[in-house]
Amino acid sequence: MQKNDIFEIEITDIGVNGEGIGKVDGYTVFVKDAIIGDIIEAKLMKAKKSYGYARLAKILRPSPDRVAPVCPMARKCGGCQIQEMSYEKQLEFKEKKVRGNLARIGGVPEELLDCIMDPIVGMEESAALSAPFYYRNKAQFPVGEDKEGNPIAGFYAGRTHSIIPNTSCALGVKVNEKILNLILDFMREYKIKPYNETAHEGIVRHVLIRYGFRTKEIMVCLVVNAEQLPHSETLAERLAEIEGMTSITLNVNKNRTNVILGEEIKLIWGQEYITDYIGDVKYQISPLSFYQVNPVQTEKLYRLAVEYAGVDGGTVWDLYCGIGTISLFLAKEGCRVYGVEIVPQAVEDARNNARINGIENVEFFAGKAEEVLPEYYREYEKTHGGEKAHADVIVVDPPRKGCEETLLKTMVDMRPERIVYVSCDSATLARDVKYLRENGYEVVRGRAVDQFPHTVHVECVVLMSRVEK
Ligand code: SAH
Repeated sequence: MQKNDIFEIEITDIGVNGEGIGKVDGYTVFVKDAIIGDIIEAKLMKAKKSYGYARLAKILRPSPDRVAPVCPMARKCGGCQIQEMSYEKQLEFKEKKVRGNLARIGGVPEELLDCIMDPIVGMEESAALSAPFYYRNKAQFPVGEDKEGNPIAGFYAGRTHSIIPNTSCALGVKVNEKILNLILDFMREYKIKPYNETAHEGIVRHVLIRYGFRTKEIMVCLVVNAEQLPHSETLAERLAEIEGMTSITLNVNKNRTNVILGEEIKLIWGQEYITDYIGDVKYQISPLSFYQVNPVQTEKLYRLAVEYAGVDGGTVWDLYCGIGTISLFLAKEGCRVYGVEIVPQAVEDARNNARINGIENVEFFAGKAEEVLPEYYREYEKTHGGEKAHADVIVVDPPRKGCEETLLKTMVDMRPERIVYVSCDSATLARDVKYLRENGYEVVRGRAVDQFPHTVHVECVVLMSRVEK
């Protein structure tokens, strides 16, 4: 096979990034946007020795699992990888992915997985659509310029930094479009330049929008390569007209980086945070704090984590606690909760959230989990005449890279009865599960929760119990 070859191929498998996989005379081909069961005409774009990457040129016979995308940009945009796959198949794919990683990387025996894995928790399909859309409470749109010099907002094309204009993403809330168009009009009128990555010039880099599904409060945060935004009062006045507008801020990011947010927040209108609810717990959310993007599924995820934790008084740690979401759910069960989080503003939000919910049996520490917990453990031993710190349950919910081994080691040293691992990347989860299995713990329950329909991402929760007495 050579570059630019055009050939017919049947898609028989799916890769971790949602791409279709097929074989032609033993040669493996990866095709973005192709779905298991499709027979397609493909064009080889990149040829390696035993495999290659091809582009979907024409669908000759569509898979029974193929559906029409809701978003016309689905193929170009890097946000949704599997929007053309039926929702049922998406769920099946995600469930298999989690299971496969636990077996392959985590070394969990298949027979055990058969017994302990609960079926994936999907999202309800909406009445008008065959799959869930418009579920995200947060969107970050990069801002740039088209060839004529007009400001645009949209999405990065898959794996690139070129912006495809699109202000009406089908995963986000509909008010996003109105907000973005208002900002783009304002930029055009006052000749405010979008940021240019290559030249490191211009002002507006990103627009971050958050929406509280329960409270209907809206937050707009403009990420700027400057200390101020010219005419920001005018912009604020216009945005404030939108129903639900609660918080308008600037985030200063003057670094040459593709990290979206800088560290400094400047209030330009309203208050610095919005409020929302998950279940009956109320949360204040700042621009810099992490907050789960799919509130409907988040509630299911947290209830599952609390169920797995099975707390009955005692001491519980919630590591990587963000604004204290899981911590407060746990604290309501009547245990003593300690939360650890690296972003200082999120810790402030967490303390505040405990206060506004009248929850007192929780305490938050700012710092890295892999530093705070080991330090706590050492100090405890020193100040308690050699006695070791103990936890009844430890909950972790790390970012994609998972936990550091120093943290896992301390967790094991604290001899909790149960460890609840909430994960957004089942590969690193499985790596950490392997360590815990080798150090006295066994997986006893596990379940995936679909927080991100139409993308290849999947969240999951695993319960591990101490087997060594
Ligand atoms: N449990 C929370 C947050 C989960 S996201 C929720 O469901 O809302 C992961 C969180 O870990 C983020 O808030 C991030 O800021 C934080 N974090 C990242 N690295 C960390 C580290 N090394 N130590 C502690 N927290 C960290």
